[in-house]
Amino acid sequence: MLKPNMHYADLAESYLFYHIAQKTNAYLEAHPGTHLYRMGIGDVSLPLCAPVIRALHEAVDDQADKTRFHGYMPECGAPFFRKAVAEHYRKRGVLLSEDEVFVSSGASDELGDILDLFDRSAVAMVMEPAYPAYVDANVMAGRKIIHFPSGEENGFLPEPREGAAADILYICSPNNPTGAVFDRKQLKAWVDFANQSGSVILFDAAYEAFIEEDDVPHSIFEIEGARTCAIEICSLSKTAGFTGTRLGYTVIPETLIRCGMSLRDMWVRNRTTKTNGVSYIIQKGGAAVFTEEGQRGIRENIGVYKKNARVLMEALDMLGIRYCGGKNAPYIWLRCPGGMGSWEFFDYLLEKIQVVGTPGEGFGSCGEGYFRFSTFGSPEDTEKAAERLVSLLK
Ligand code: PLP
Repeated sequence: MLKPNMHYADLAESYLFYHIAQKTNAYLEAHPGTHLYRMGIGDVSLPLCAPVIRALHEAVDDQADKTRFHGYMPECGAPFFRKAVAEHYRKRGVLLSEDEVFVSSGASDELGDILDLFDRSAVAMVMEPAYPAYVDANVMAGRKIIHFPSGEENGFLPEPREGAAADILYICSPNNPTGAVFDRKQLKAWVDFANQSGSVILFDAAYEAFIEEDDVPHSIFEIEGARTCAIEICSLSKTAGFTGTRLGYTVIPETLIRCGMSLRDMWVRNRTTKTNGVSYIIQKGGAAVFTEEGQRGIRENIGVYKKNARVLMEALDMLGIRYCGGKNAPYIWLRCPGGMGSWEFFDYLLEKIQVVGTPGEGFGSCGEGYFRFSTFGSPEDTEKAAERLVSLLK
């Protein structure tokens, strides 16, 4: 009999969003017609900006014209897309060759697929609280996982130490769910740690476009030494509203070598075997994000989410509730008031003020006692939710 990948049996029940949906549905059944203020969503609510839509339309028309039609695209990415990304990095002072940029269908796909580069015996370190996919993708591969907790004492930005020693080091900055961001010095410590031990950092930069402080690095490649120890995984999902359109990119420097093998070359081989590229139309839309007009368009949308963040942060300040994030990230991570547990606070907000957030416990055990608000909701709902929070908790 075929033996399936038995590691799937080791996966913990993925109950976070399922459980949230169950609880909110039960509430709505008991209170029909009630409006819920959904501050838990990780999806964007604003449409794609005009320059992207125009580029997508033009690309569709290309596909209708025999002289402009495109069939298969190069597996590692269309040259125009790779060039646009490399140019975007160059403007920030990071020099990349276009051959170091790979297109992807989004960061989730890539975070799973990229593990093909590593031996099954490689140990993965996940800083928690964390985006749940890091752990699950490694459980599926049967890897040993080090759960590396962080907390308020280090601002949810842990420093490297012996307990973090692993082959694959996950770093997400700005972080989901805590909204915390590493500064240059803190990232440099991780880069040095990885270079000394020969491990590889998987740097998830899905939220870099939300950074507003000048000196906070957007890319790990702004840090000296990163070109010999890091892979950066990026997404246009939150940057430009591509959650449903699907596009991302990954940077693997040609100088990233382990055991005499070039990880960049291995990834070329992987992509040319396992994909047939990403759609021409979508890559055209994605390239428009990196034009001046595209950058203005995405900044406008991000500005709306940032205003939501300010509204929620003001409410929490007024209430004297401790939180982090919100400034350089679309998430606000708060300590549940009155010593409540994550799910207890979830139930309390749902019952009393119909506000739905995300219990911190769903992001690793050190998230217990914390709660995440997302700023991707509508401004109207966010304002109402903030008012309701203040009147409930003052
Ligand atoms: N990485 C983090 C930290 C995320 O929060 C998300 C999505 O919420 C992703 C990656 C996945 O992004 P994508 O839509 O590009 O798959």
